[in-house]
Amino acid sequence: ATAEPVLTVEGLEVSYGRVRAVRGVSFTVQRGGLVTLVGANGAGKSSIINAVSGVVRPSGGRILFDGQDVTKTPAHTLVRRGLVQVPEGRQILASMTIEENLQLGAWHSSGARTDEVYDRFPVLAERRALPAGSLSGGEQQMLAIGRALVAEPTLMLLDEPSMGLAPKVVDDVFRVIEEIRSGGTSVLLVEQNARRALRAADHGYVLSSGEVAQSGPADELLADEGIVAAYLGLE
Ligand code: ATP
Repeated sequence: ATAEPVLTVEGLEVSYGRVRAVRGVSFTVQRGGLVTLVGANGAGKSSIINAVSGVVRPSGGRILFDGQDVTKTPAHTLVRRGLVQVPEGRQILASMTIEENLQLGAWHSSGARTDEVYDRFPVLAERRALPAGSLSGGEQQMLAIGRALVAEPTLMLLDEPSMGLAPKVVDDVFRVIEEIRSGGTSVLLVEQNARRALRAADHGYVLSSGEVAQSGPADELLADEGIVAAYLGLE
């Protein structure tokens, strides 16, 4: 059973009215793996990750998490089972304290893991009583990741965690993601920063107009000049 993927997505369809944003997308995340979905703005990346986390209802296809069909399972149930999303734009509550933001991630558990998050991110511990809005963009991203960690994920989904951050801070965020993966949590990462994401990932899927245009081991995608020129741009 350990060979079974933690996440299997088969023929996923997501539509908004007449817009078919995701068209028959299939992929897997192996247990302990770090998989990235890359592609241009509007390629359907957020729609896929939101369907997996239960935020958006698919119009077709199947999603299996831990071997169980969760296609119609609501987000709050998935969080309890260990499938936790770090949303695009971080979505921290700026006027609440850092501590309160972390406690939100622990609503269904004991909250014991907030201490582990503080150990991992000392800056959050030092400022735990301050409003989250007082943190820098990079620190807010760490808080968003910390809030997901206290929910004890087996699979963490991240939507554009590097968005709007300075290059050095992007490095910090990717280091944290790789540490989380090393700790045994599987990761599904959506990124417009395709090269950076593929360098961190073991497997990649390149999306174009709602479909998987290319997929394979991340290092092979990066080494393919045709793919880089066609889909990954110059960044
Ligand atoms: P981005 O980086 O901009 O988030 P993306 O690759 O994540 O891009 P999606 O956000 O999934 O792509 O969008 C895919 C398509 O679906 C786009 O054409 C987008 O305009 C459309 N779309 C996304 N959300 C909605 C919505 N709530 N209502 C209508 N159309 C939507």
